[in-house]
Amino acid sequence: MPIFRPERKRPAGAPPLGSTPRAITRRTLDSALASARSAYPNEFGGVLRADPPGVIGELLLLPGTTAGRRHANFHLYMLPADLSVVGTVHSHPSGALRPSDADLQLFRNWGSRHLILGAPFGPGSWRAYDGNGRETTLEVREAPRPRPVETPLPEYRPRVVHRPGEPSSGVFPADEA
Ligand code: ZN
Repeated sequence: MPIFRPERKRPAGAPPLGSTPRAITRRTLDSALASARSAYPNEFGGVLRADPPGVIGELLLLPGTTAGRRHANFHLYMLPADLSVVGTVHSHPSGALRPSDADLQLFRNWGSRHLILGAPFGPGSWRAYDGNGRETTLEVREAPRPRPVETPLPEYRPRVVHRPGEPSSGVFPADEA
């Protein structure tokens, strides 16, 4: 009896969902840093998604994530059951970029890439860590260039026009000369 196996169509060679991302988009990083700035002096926390896999491209603020002066509390049970969620991001208003003991516990529990953002939340005020709390690298990927505005094609005017009433013999005028 044949078994139907639905398959996700992914480009050949693309990493599978749930694999460790190697990069983050500039847009996602900038929006995380902006959220950290606006939460200051409190902490800010969220989760990171990578879909398509391999590049973190989305920041999700968890409902019920309480920002406190001490630590953002992650309500991991609120996480979407979604393999594209790859890790966490949170800020340290103190400016420290090292994970605390509580951070290390969080990292070890779940996820493969975690960002810590430190005040003053400038372009370089962040570090990436793996699930063991070891510092790791994440390439920052600039947005692809916007596609050039498409100019409309000139109107198509066929040279030979069949006019009603003429024999549609398929003979072109040049053939009659
Ligand atoms: Zn922390």
